[in-house]
Amino acid sequence: MIITERLYDNGHIKEFNSVVTKCKKVDSGFLVALAATAFFPNGGGQLADEGTIDGIAVKDVNEIDGVIYHSVDCEFEVGSTVRGEIDWSVRFPRMQNHTGEHIVCGVAHKLFGYENTGFHMGTFGITADLSGPLTEEDVRKIELIANKAVFENVAVSCFYPTESELETINYRSKLELTEDVRLVKIEGYDLCACCAPHVLRTGEIGLIKILSHQSHRGGTRLLLKCGYDALEDYCVRCASVSAVSASLCAKENEIAQAVEQLKAEKARLDFEIEKLNKEKTEKYIRRLCASEGNVCVFADDADGDGLREIVNAGKELCAGIFGAFAAAENGYKYCLGSKNINLSVFAKQFNAALGGRGGGKPEMIQGSVTAGKEEILGFLTATEQ
Ligand SMILES: [Zn+2]
Repeated sequence: MIITERLYDNGHIKEFNSVVTKCKKVDSGFLVALAATAFFPNGGGQLADEGTIDGIAVKDVNEIDGVIYHSVDCEFEVGSTVRGEIDWSVRFPRMQNHTGEHIVCGVAHKLFGYENTGFHMGTFGITADLSGPLTEEDVRKIELIANKAVFENVAVSCFYPTESELETINYRSKLELTEDVRLVKIEGYDLCACCAPHVLRTGEIGLIKILSHQSHRGGTRLLLKCGYDALEDYCVRCASVSAVSASLCAKENEIAQAVEQLKAEKARLDFEIEKLNKEKTEKYIRRLCASEGNVCVFADDADGDGLREIVNAGKELCAGIFGAFAAAENGYKYCLGSKNINLSVFAKQFNAALGGRGGGKPEMIQGSVTAGKEEILGFLTATEQ
């Protein structure tokens, strides 16, 4: 087995020539192996590179026993020389994010002795799990030092120490590796075992922003974005803050306070509405009087709770069915109650006759009908027992 030479050890190789060493037919197309490739395969929490080989789209890249296979739609002749091109618009932001994550975890390791227990890179950003708790102040400190590493524009390099050399080197390791360990060194900030492509100098990363931190399995999960992704995120947040600020007529740095005032005002109004609804319901209840047959009350300004309260009081005074109705968008909301008639059974014919839906318990049902006031009154009079 000839192991593929990894050209992505130099993260800046965007184009390369190489020789086809294998081409296997599979259900989804062809798997092509090259003597050397700059395509990073799926692995270590990062997705495979995108790009082309001789202009043909590379759909996926996977490593099997040291050989990197490119999934393509057409056959390549073994022994032929091909040209690979990496989609830089996908790769470069990933390198910014990945190298940024190394710095953040390296700084957390130096300051607090924490290990990295998880890593995932997706469209949402990067999550990095650390082995211990962090306060808001700790996180801001890590973020500041990580950005200082960017401003210092230090070198990022990778190397493969021998097994005996490895024993003498103190490094962060995300995987339990024993041989062919690739160490990524960020001068003065981090040394970590990693197989992915990285930027060559920290200045290429741009902003490193820790967006959130939360407790996770006894440690901390950080969500971060770097470089172009951090810039895009900043733009989205600025637009959102501007829109809220304009809507509330509040200064951008005072919108949190303005929202709190709005919430307090809403709570006060909710309380007022509840009080008024209660008063209205009581007004209907006061007018009720005893009846032998079915009774209908049209309480258009009552809400669902109000209808129920009116029916609770009304059904005690009524030998038949007591119904309360409130006008709704396409007809009426209803609540029916009775102490003598099983309404679970009655609901079926009531809904069928009046274009309704709803149900409930034998003593009370709720729902809505599309029928008008006259039809409702007519039906309840006709069904009087
Ligand atoms: Zn890494």
